[in-house]
Amino acid sequence: MTELAASLSAAMPKLRGKLAAEQSLAESLWFRVGGKAEALFQPVDEDDLAYFLSRLPSEVPYVVIGLGSNVLVRDGGIPGVTIRLGKPFATIAPGRDATIWAGAGAADKRVALEAMEAGIGGFAFFAGIPGAIGGALAMNAGANGTETSQRVVEVFGFDRSGDAVTLSNAEMGYSYRHSAAPTGVIFTSVLMQGERRERETIKAEIDAVVAHREATQPTKSRTGGSTFKNPPGHTAWKLVDEAGCRGLQIGGAQVSVLHTNFLLNVGGATAADIEALGEEVRRRVRETSGVELEWEIKRIGVD
Ligand SMILES: Cc1cc2nc3c(=O)[nH]c(=O)nc-3n(C[C@H](O)[C@H](O)[C@H](O)COP(=O)(O)OP(=O)(O)OC[C@H]3O[C@@H](n4cnc5c(N)ncnc54)[C@H](O)[C@@H]3O)c2cc1C
Repeated sequence: MTELAASLSAAMPKLRGKLAAEQSLAESLWFRVGGKAEALFQPVDEDDLAYFLSRLPSEVPYVVIGLGSNVLVRDGGIPGVTIRLGKPFATIAPGRDATIWAGAGAADKRVALEAMEAGIGGFAFFAGIPGAIGGALAMNAGANGTETSQRVVEVFGFDRSGDAVTLSNAEMGYSYRHSAAPTGVIFTSVLMQGERRERETIKAEIDAVVAHREATQPTKSRTGGSTFKNPPGHTAWKLVDEAGCRGLQIGGAQVSVLHTNFLLNVGGATAADIEALGEEVRRRVRETSGVELEWEIKRIGVD
């Protein structure tokens, strides 16, 4: 164990989750690139997470990752602790009055399918988003005209001290692909509201979402989804295309030919290649249109 993981283990004798040193993350991230987590913690339940946070020294930074479909981990890895909520946080419970309670580790697609089985409409958009609910809450993930924020009633989680917090929809501070929830809060579950609908109607919606996506996005590639937010009044992919960046390549990183707001690892890319390509695209778009593109993908860790 590295010094950090060993010292945390020693200070947390009642920890039940897995705390491991120098863990490679690339194979579990969509881009399949990036360095190691100095310490990776996977809690077994909420009490375990709260205990860990309550004992974590305030100078040790942490980040939480979900299914890694919107992050680029830099090649030098992530200093401090990386927290991953997996299966123990993946429960989905359809409730009365067309509500759905979902753990932050539940895959968005599963939420869409379980809502369908329960005859709850309003979640078909999740069928095409390859992340987990924690990431959807943090990113205000959206597609096909619906955003996560339109479904959220209350979000449950833990703050840096390990205290439980409940955040209302307003307290999540939602805007386009962004939440202004208090820094450091780790979301563990959410209560969402849908509406009663026929299962067959929902199934048709889900089928349409999936078919459209497969036709228009490189869904089976090593990518991080939409790279840049759509600037007000513009569409990011169009600006990138007009700047002549379709197919542009740096090392093993390429601007997708199918969807120009997607960057791909076409083989052997480093995180530095992908970030450099993104910055080159931003530069060319600035030059041709005067528009400043803002990264949607979260770049974390060190070079
Ligand atoms: C092929 C493809 C298609 C995509 N299509 C769409 C789309 O249509 N619409 C869309 O909105 N996005 C899309 N994305 C992007 C991505 O799937 C979403 O942003 C998704 O919500 C990210 O979830 P994740 O679990 O992968 O989070 P990650 O990528 O692991 O993390 C993203 C951010 O969320 C934070 N986070 C994750 N879990 C938690 C938690 N429990 N508590 C607090 N913060 C947390 C992380 O710290 C990070 O800042 C696409 C991505 C790909 C690869």
